[in-house]
Amino acid sequence: MTAPIDQAWFVAAMVKATTDMWLKGWDERNGGNVSLRLLPEDLEDFGDLPPLRTVALSEPMPELADQTFIVTGTGKFFRNVQLDPPANLGVVKVAGNGRSLDVLWGYSDGGGPTSELPAHFQSHVVRQVRTNGRDRVVMHCHATNLIALTYMLELTDANVTRALWEGSTECLVVFPDGVATMPWITPGTDEIGAETAKALAKRPLALWPFHGVFGVGQTLDEAFGLIDTAEKSAEILVKVLAMGGPRQSMTTDNLRDLAARFAVRPCTEAMALNGWQLANV
Ligand code: 13P
Ligand code: ZN
Repeated sequence: MTAPIDQAWFVAAMVKATTDMWLKGWDERNGGNVSLRLLPEDLEDFGDLPPLRTVALSEPMPELADQTFIVTGTGKFFRNVQLDPPANLGVVKVAGNGRSLDVLWGYSDGGGPTSELPAHFQSHVVRQVRTNGRDRVVMHCHATNLIALTYMLELTDANVTRALWEGSTECLVVFPDGVATMPWITPGTDEIGAETAKALAKRPLALWPFHGVFGVGQTLDEAFGLIDTAEKSAEILVKVLAMGGPRQSMTTDNLRDLAARFAVRPCTEAMALNGWQLANV
């Protein structure tokens, strides 16, 4: 007897992640998208999964040949995923030549995977290399305070990292490799995909100015927790700026003590700064 995919742990996990993201206020309308790489053992209870249809890829992804992912659908509202998972999510397998996807389950109303698939897939490639295959999740959302900060902070990796580390004591421990920044680029393009992957090759978070954030992790919980931690710090910084700016903050010595206590190696560029600064206009 094979079970229906609707009952799989990874469908329930995607419903929880997208519902929580909606409740956090990170995903208005169809904002945001999530992909989770599935392992052969995740699929073994579900028998043969003949392709329902094939979707062309905008650029070949030979590095992901034969890999399977569950991915949110394009144009779908995260607040609705819990109501109808098969219409809002899909399981796709990259063809052996890397040029197309087979839809194995989902997108039941004829839809397809997120328009940000180039950013997701290119990021999966670099994260698999960086983490020896441990990272399985790429998560994008429109976290309000992180977006707000991109209008204010000088947009370098070191400055944004330093600001978010100082926004809340746990941040340096949760993301010692820091936060990447990049220029504004048209969403849904191969170009923004390439820049995002370049950013995520060295850091687990990438800010899209005036748009949102990408976070990665081994699990949905880890990627969610990472974005949640950065967004909490951003919320504090937004309040601090609204109160007239910081009068005091953590020092470099404080950050060094934190890194030593929790045995992390914080990125040197952000440690070398003395505080953080707003964009020069
Ligand atoms: P999709 O609906 O295609 O996933 O796009 C949402 C989004 O956030 C674009 O950046
Ligand atoms: Zn977006």
